[in-house]
Amino acid sequence: MKMKMHGRLLLGGLVALGASQALAGGPAPAALPIYQSAPAIKAACDKGLLAAQQRLKVLERRKVDASWLAAFDDFYAFQEDTQYPLDFMLHVHPNKAVREAAQACSLRWADFSSSFSQNEKLYKALKRAPTADAIDRELVIAARAAFEDGGVALPPSQRQRAKQLSDQLSELNQQFDKNIQDAGIKLAFAEAELKGVPAAVWEKAPRDEQGRVVLGVDYPSYVPVMQSAELEATRERMWRAKVNEGGEANLQLLDQIAAKRREYAGLFGFSNYADFNLRRRMAKDGATALRFLDDVKSAVVEGERSDVRALRQAKAEHLGLAPEAVTVQRWDASFYTERIRKQRFSVDQEAFRQYFPPQESLAFTLRVIEKMMGVRYTPVKVQTWHPEVLSYAVSDAASGTSLGLLYVDLYPREGKYNHAAVWPLRSSATRIQRTPTAALVVNFDRQGLTLDEMETLLHELGHAVHNNLSATRYAAQGGTSVMHDFVEAPSQMLEDWVYDKQVLKLMQEVCPSCKPVPDALIDQAVAAKGFAKGSFYGRQHLYASYDLALYGSELQQALPLWVRMEGATPLGYVPGTMFPAGFAHIAGGYGAGYYGYLWSLVLAMDLRTAFQNGNKLNPEVGKRYRDIVLGNGGQKPAPELVREFLQRDSNSKAFFEELRKP
Ligand SMILES: [Zn+2]
Repeated sequence: MKMKMHGRLLLGGLVALGASQALAGGPAPAALPIYQSAPAIKAACDKGLLAAQQRLKVLERRKVDASWLAAFDDFYAFQEDTQYPLDFMLHVHPNKAVREAAQACSLRWADFSSSFSQNEKLYKALKRAPTADAIDRELVIAARAAFEDGGVALPPSQRQRAKQLSDQLSELNQQFDKNIQDAGIKLAFAEAELKGVPAAVWEKAPRDEQGRVVLGVDYPSYVPVMQSAELEATRERMWRAKVNEGGEANLQLLDQIAAKRREYAGLFGFSNYADFNLRRRMAKDGATALRFLDDVKSAVVEGERSDVRALRQAKAEHLGLAPEAVTVQRWDASFYTERIRKQRFSVDQEAFRQYFPPQESLAFTLRVIEKMMGVRYTPVKVQTWHPEVLSYAVSDAASGTSLGLLYVDLYPREGKYNHAAVWPLRSSATRIQRTPTAALVVNFDRQGLTLDEMETLLHELGHAVHNNLSATRYAAQGGTSVMHDFVEAPSQMLEDWVYDKQVLKLMQEVCPSCKPVPDALIDQAVAAKGFAKGSFYGRQHLYASYDLALYGSELQQALPLWVRMEGATPLGYVPGTMFPAGFAHIAGGYGAGYYGYLWSLVLAMDLRTAFQNGNKLNPEVGKRYRDIVLGNGGQKPAPELVREFLQRDSNSKAFFEELRKP
C-alpha cells in the first residue's frame, strides 16, 4: 500500500515568497462526507477506526488467491474514504473546533497507519499474492516498498522505534502547519504608508482605533504590497512579518523533525534521510539530486547576478541616488522586478485583474482542460465545508461517462490553509468503477487574478486532473501516486499555457462579457517573463539545496544552516529573519524532496514539446496525454509513461535551453 510516510496528501504549488445532479451516462460521483461539528468528527473518527480494525482482521485471515490484490486494494480504498475527508477538514474547515477535532483524529489515523505498515501478515501475503500482469506486479512492488519503509522487516526493537518516530513525526509536522495556519498575523498601516498599493487591496480592510488599515499576510494582501508599495519601510514590515510567520517554535520543530528523520533513516542503515528517501525515486540518491541542482545553478548564476544589477539600477533611479549608494534588499526584489517589467515591457501584474475575475478565470481554466483532454465540467450542488466552495462533476465529453468530482475553494479566510494546493481525496479504481475526487484550494483576491495567479490556478488544476482523469485499475495506483520527483510535472507543464493567445481566447467562450486581454499585453508578458529568470531559478535552487543539506549527511541546525546558505546568495541573509520556520513543504511531505520541483520541470518542459507547432489545445495530443500520462497514474513507472507519450526517451534539452535563453 502506498502509505505516505510522514507525508501529507497534499500537492503544493512551489514557494514563491519574495515573489447533485445526475449526469447522462453515469451515476453522479460520490460526494465527500462533510462534518460540521467537533462531536461529528469525533464520532466519525471512532467509527472509521473501529471499522478499519475489523476489516484489517478479515483481510489478514483472507486466503491469498488470485483476487487477494483486489481485496488489499479494497482496504486501501476504504481507508481513503474514511480517513481523508476527516484529515482534509483540518486544513479548510471554517470552524476552529472542527479543525482541532480533525487534528486529533488525524493523529489517531497516523497511529493506525504506522502500525499497518508494519503488519507482517499482510507483508507476507503480499509476497505470495498471485499477479496476472505488469500492473499487478507494479502494485506489489510499491506496496512491499511501503511496508519495508514502514519498518516491517526490521528487528522487533527497531521496528518499535520506527513506529514511535513515525508517530512523533506526524505530530511535529501537524504542529508546524498549525503554527502557520493559526498565526493570524496583522499589520497596521497608515494610508500614506500604502502609497502605490492598489486601493482595491486595502480600502475595504478593517481599521484599528487610530484609523490605520489592518492587513494580514495572506496572498491577496502580501503580494500587492510587496509588488507595489512605494515606501521601503512598508515592504520591509510586510516581508519580515511573512518570513517570520512560523515563529521560533517552528525552528525548534524543524530541528526535531530533521533529527528524527535522520534517526529513522539510520534504522535502515542509511547515514542520512535524503538517501533513504530518494532511493525509490527517479533521482535515486541525494548526490544525484545535488549534481542536477549544480547544473541548474551554473546555468543561471550569471543571470542571477545581472538581475541584481538591474534591480540596483532601478532602485537607484527610483530614489534618485547613485547605484553605489543603494543596496538591494530582499523586500525590494518583487517591487523593483515589477517596476522593471512595467518600464521595460509595459507589463503590470495588477493590470491583469480586470481581465481575470476569479470565477470566470476558473471557468476558463476548466475550459482549457475540456478542449485539450475531451472532458466536461458540470457544476453540481453537493454539500461542502464552506458556502463559497464550488463543485464540479467531471465527465468524458464523447461518452458522457462520469469520471470524477472536483471541489474548488477560491478565497482566503481565517484559519484556512494559506498557500495553493490540491488534495487528492479519493483515487480511481476501474475494477470497481470507483471515480476519483480532488479538492483544489487557493487564496485569490475577489477583484480578480494576476497573470501569475492564473499560472498558479493552472498549476493546481494540473494536479487536480492528474487525480480526476486517472483511470487506474487499483486505487492505490491512482493519479498522483507517482514518484514524488515526477508529481510536479503535469502541474508545471500547464503553467505555460497562460502565455498563449489562442488559449487565452477561450476566456471569451466562458465569459462573453469579459474584456479580452489585448494580444500586445500577452506579447509583453512573454517578453517580461525572461526577466528575473536568474533570480527565480536561483531561489528555487537555494530552497532545494537547503532541503537536501538539512536532510543530508551532516547533522545541521535549521536556522544556522539557512543563515549560511542564504547568506551566500547575491541578496544575502537578513538578520532577525527565519524563513525555514514557514517552509511547510520540507517539514512535511516534500522533506528531502523539494528538488522535485526542478526535476519535474525538466520533464514538464519535455512534455510540452509534444504540444508545439502552436497548438497547445490540440485535442489528439491532449487525449493521448490524458490516456497515457494521467490515465496510468502510478501503475507504470513515470519514465515509461513519458517515453510512451513522447515516443522517445526524455531529455533535459528544453529545460536547459530555456534556462540559458537570455
Ligand atoms: Zn504543485
